[in-house]
Amino acid sequence: ACNSDLPDIIFTIDFAAQKHKDQRRKDPDKTPYINHPIGVANILIQEGGVEDLEVIQAAVLHDTVEDTDTTFEELEEAFGKSVTNIVREVTDNKLLSKEERKELQIKNASHKSHQAKLVKMADKIYNLRDLNRALPEGWDEKRRHEYFVWAQKVCCQIYDANEALATCLQKLFTEFFGK
Ligand code: NDP
Ligand code: ZN
Repeated sequence: ACNSDLPDIIFTIDFAAQKHKDQRRKDPDKTPYINHPIGVANILIQEGGVEDLEVIQAAVLHDTVEDTDTTFEELEEAFGKSVTNIVREVTDNKLLSKEERKELQIKNASHKSHQAKLVKMADKIYNLRDLNRALPEGWDEKRRHEYFVWAQKVCCQIYDANEALATCLQKLFTEFFGK
């Protein structure tokens, strides 16, 4: 990434901010949802050393189709095929049940592209840190524990994509499971 990427990055953040404008995270403070995709992109840059602009854009956009009315056609129009395909790879099929989606993430993780694995790792790092910071409304310790167990099953298959992010995830799991 370089200076001339800045307009594309700001355009992407603006697009995501508009799409997520009415959404909040599940934490008790009801943090604006856009903090999450921006934070995921920041983890990739600051902690993963990732410089691939397509990956950064896909990170900013990664929950737009899953959680808003955004379509892949719309993303393709605005950002092109490469960025859209990364988002496609990290988007769960909303026609399936929560249980099926969780199972498929475990089943499919290792078959994802390098770019998609990077977004997935940073997404999980952000969510696990969020869960460490505060329990979402309506969650109990058991549910947080189950989330960490599931996240580890997904993440342990994709550590090959980025060493720094893998170390970060492994530390989150080790500290949570207390070992
Ligand atoms: P959800 O998938 O419902 O919630 C976790 C997701 O919410 C994250 O992956 C993240 O996704 C998003 N999110 C938004 N705000 C936060 C936040 N502050 N911290 C962390 N994540 C946040 O939860 P589960 O993983 O529990 O999925 C549901 C599954 O749990 C089902 O399989 C169901 O059977 C089970 N379940 C268990 C219960 C229990 O008590 N044990 C109760 C109910 C269901 P994103 O990156 O997309 O924003
Ligand atoms: Zn996410």
